[in-house]
Amino acid sequence: MSLSRFNALQTIENRLEPLPGEFSENGSSNIASYFGENVFGEEAMKKHLPEKAYLGVKAAIQNHQKLSRELADVIAAGMKEWAQEKNCTHFAHWFQPLTGKTAEKHDSFFTMTHDGRVIEEFTGGALVQQEPDGSSFPSGGMRSTFEARGYTVWDPSSPAFIMQVGEGKTLCIPTIFVTFDGRAQDYKLPLLRSQNFLENAAVPVCQLFDPKVTKVTATLGWEQEYFVVDDALFNARPDLQLTGRTLLGRPATKNQQLEDHYFGSIPERVYLFMRDLEIESHKLGIPVRTRHNEVAPGQYEVAPVFEEINVAIDHNQLLMDVMERVARRHKLRVLFHEKPFAGINGSGKHNNWSMGANTGVNLLSPGNTPSRNLRFLTFFVNTIMAVYKHADILRASIAHAGNDHRLGANEAPPAIISVFIGQALTKLLGQIANGKKTDDAAVQRAIDLISKLPNLELDNTDRNRTSPFAFTGNKFEIRAVGSSQNCAGPMTVMNTMMGLQLTDFKNDVDKLMAKGTEKEEAILMVLKNYIRKMKSILFEGNNYSDEWREEAAERGLSNHTNTPAALEVLRTKHAQDFFGKSGVLNERELDAFLNVQLHAYCTKLDIEAQTLEELVNSSVMPAVIRYQTELADNIASLKVIGLDDSAGYQKDKLERINDNVATISEGLKKMRKALEKAHATDDLHEEAHLLCDEVKPQMELIREAVDTLEGIVDDQYWPLVKYREILFVR
Ligand code: ADP
Ligand code: MG
Repeated sequence: MSLSRFNALQTIENRLEPLPGEFSENGSSNIASYFGENVFGEEAMKKHLPEKAYLGVKAAIQNHQKLSRELADVIAAGMKEWAQEKNCTHFAHWFQPLTGKTAEKHDSFFTMTHDGRVIEEFTGGALVQQEPDGSSFPSGGMRSTFEARGYTVWDPSSPAFIMQVGEGKTLCIPTIFVTFDGRAQDYKLPLLRSQNFLENAAVPVCQLFDPKVTKVTATLGWEQEYFVVDDALFNARPDLQLTGRTLLGRPATKNQQLEDHYFGSIPERVYLFMRDLEIESHKLGIPVRTRHNEVAPGQYEVAPVFEEINVAIDHNQLLMDVMERVARRHKLRVLFHEKPFAGINGSGKHNNWSMGANTGVNLLSPGNTPSRNLRFLTFFVNTIMAVYKHADILRASIAHAGNDHRLGANEAPPAIISVFIGQALTKLLGQIANGKKTDDAAVQRAIDLISKLPNLELDNTDRNRTSPFAFTGNKFEIRAVGSSQNCAGPMTVMNTMMGLQLTDFKNDVDKLMAKGTEKEEAILMVLKNYIRKMKSILFEGNNYSDEWREEAAERGLSNHTNTPAALEVLRTKHAQDFFGKSGVLNERELDAFLNVQLHAYCTKLDIEAQTLEELVNSSVMPAVIRYQTELADNIASLKVIGLDDSAGYQKDKLERINDNVATISEGLKKMRKALEKAHATDDLHEEAHLLCDEVKPQMELIREAVDTLEGIVDDQYWPLVKYREILFVR
């Protein structure tokens, strides 16, 4: 056995005893006693800010009001006081560049006065704006290096928090990241713009039903799937280390066929990691609530209570970061890649999305009065209509190299965007759409019908797990988001499409009302019209089936099975209007965003291809050749002593090895050629298509041959940790 594989397996043998003492110092079982203790939230603000500053922050959050410089100074002083009480030495602007990860630049509170005294300071200026040297973050060509200045600007709507790494504690300020002239360079600014846009469109629609509504926020509850592997085994797989997924590896003979992992008991080491993670998360105010095993061996899920969308996204980004650190304390690694292992399920991140009004109602929740249900129906139908119109843009927002292994591959959910709403609601929409000409009685009948909603259904049994976009009783669940992704991408698109749609809806209703139609009747007439139009996006059947692919094509729904194809839409007039009219991204920002996505795709595929090439040449083939020689020697030696390989076992193996070696050798040559062709072009789109259409298929052929060899070559020689060894954490 290769030394690295042997050592890795030895290491875990020594780890069977769970690691003691990994719990945070606050071992209290009462979560309320430490929840949010590392967050500059309500309690800390009340304690450390004068009332005027406290109210100023609240107003800034509620009404998007600007904070004066003096007020910023006062808030910064309060934050510093709080942070220093908790032994923070540094502060950092924390932001979400287009890499999809988070970034932070630390500064010390410590500074020197002109006469050489050491003081600790944190000014309003430092709180509000910083200029990190962001020249190495992807900008899609918006910042050339000579004008590399990028600014981070405080987002007061997401609370500051303390990040603890070992003994070090840093006060982190959530910020947006922009160019010197204010263009978005990150995920947060477009998200905030989309949230604003949605709010402005949704409030007037809410006021059709309740004039008291003055604020609407989108809400998000994500469900984060991930794999856990032992870190010694992780380190013995260069492909996992460098690309986040296994580029080679024969599926274990037992994987998920028995479905015994799903919701099964959690292995002890993983359980201890989860407990530690939950304590850390709760201190940071991340309301994680559920944990369980997922379908594949080694796969798990963590989900919080939903929150206002901006905070929910910050919390997801923060959680992913904390997970990686806590896992390492337990000698484990978490894998966020969408498809770390072939042959078993990959990971997604369901985004449960809804909208809430400041009157406390969930706009996608049916109520028990007719008028509430008309409001529900309005937001429900408009969401579906929005998806009907902009499915391609939603698809583009979840397109990246990792997710290609799920969407459009042999796995859930498909690349075709459709909406599942369940039997009862389908029936209801059908009845409304087929209703005769609206007259008073018909309106009344429709409203009566709607008022029966809660009894009709909305129980959790009517679920379609294969749908990429499903209504689940009081929210929509967007299931096609990738596990490693920043939710802000798809959520920005959701908010924007809904904002655009609600604007159209309000106009349509206003037009009818201007002609003298009663409000309720006008609303119903418009909805009825939408329901008739959007039929093709509704699908209740099995999304994985081949029949659906055919039917979807007949219905005219797109099926972009890979990233380069899915991203094409961002170059169209449709996308420019979508982001431009809403003010979420101007043309230059959109173009930059597209370039960053394409560039990331190309870079990832390139790294994967090069890693595969090196692994095969320097690890796999030497082992194969050694075994091949041994077999050949064996046949020759048998001959010398007058015996032969009469049953043909050795010869047969040797032949199969030879065939696969030939496939690999040819594949490597073709892959190299295709890579060079891709490198030679200056056009990012063309490069992406070449990598996708010419390089990737060779990678798959090589993999298939190597995985076959893994089942033939002496286990002692095999250089890479096998699936059966890595997937079942003990
Ligand atoms: P499941 O989907 O397994 O039935 P739940 O319905 O309880 O589980 O919720 C799944 C996720 O949806 C959770 O993160 C939850 O907080 C979130 N969620 C529930 N209500 C809303 C809402 N109004 N807006 C956004 N997310 C929500
Ligand atoms: Mg769910």
